[in-house]
Amino acid sequence: MTATIIDGRAIASEIFVDLTGRVHALRRKSVVPCLVFVMIGDSPPAKMYAQRLERLAQPVGICVRRCVMSEGMSVAELEHQVSSLSADDTVDGVLVQMPLPESLLNARLSTLIYPRKDVDGITVHNAGRLYLGQSGQQPSTAAAMVHILDHCQVPLAGQHAVVVGRSNVVGHPIAELLLYRDATLSVVHRQTRDLPQMTRQADVLIVAAGEPNLIKPDMISSGVVILDAGINVTPDGLRGDVDFEGCSTLASAITPVPGGIGPVTNAVLLKSVVRSAEHRHV
Ligand code: ADP
Repeated sequence: MTATIIDGRAIASEIFVDLTGRVHALRRKSVVPCLVFVMIGDSPPAKMYAQRLERLAQPVGICVRRCVMSEGMSVAELEHQVSSLSADDTVDGVLVQMPLPESLLNARLSTLIYPRKDVDGITVHNAGRLYLGQSGQQPSTAAAMVHILDHCQVPLAGQHAVVVGRSNVVGHPIAELLLYRDATLSVVHRQTRDLPQMTRQADVLIVAAGEPNLIKPDMISSGVVILDAGINVTPDGLRGDVDFEGCSTLASAITPVPGGIGPVTNAVLLKSVVRSAEHRHV
């Protein structure tokens, strides 16, 4: 079997077409959707990410503002800044650069951002809604994966979905979303005893471990659908967590890295900003 390569950029483009129309309608009512990216310092990767968001948002009509904070700031300063942005009527989304430096880990971001403006689903409110199966702002990568599975009409009910990784950012939320789509679920992680024995059982394999080449062809079954959320900088360039060349001869469909989940995640994040703007005056 040779896998269908899932084209994340094409799926993202479709989302942007929808968003362009929605933003147009908002702007006619003088509402300009606005995302603020809170950067802790201005490291090259953070700057690159900010530029990417700006490049994607601009043609759609979404405004992206940078709020650059000093790396040496206190927890109270970060909390104050995030609270002020959250209270600002012209701001629809507050996205804080992650991971936070050690010195700021105690910041209470998960309770400070107003739920509507919590466009990456990091607050207790939105996490609670997700775990109760209720609508709300969801972590973008997890939401992007469900979008891709639906777009590709991958059946989920009764299928065995195996999620590799249990982070609060990716693995844990996608696992919940798949459960609510009636998948039979296994979540595996660093302490799992026999990873290949688990991954071979997957009809749908979600990989978010942050380890290049973790999933090799002898760890999967023929016909599996693989979504690879890994983004690893390696001497061979950007790589996912899956041995793409090896696994694409066995899988029925697979996301590449780059060009798979990443572009859809960015589009879904901006969609959350637009959704928030649509509820500005509700
Ligand atoms: P992300 O935010 O992309 O999900 P994290 O580094 O926060 O990444 O989490 C990585 C997750 O992947 C953890 O739950 C960890 O247990 C899991 N993981 C990492 N390496 C392995 C491995 N070799 N085998 C199984 N699970 C792994």
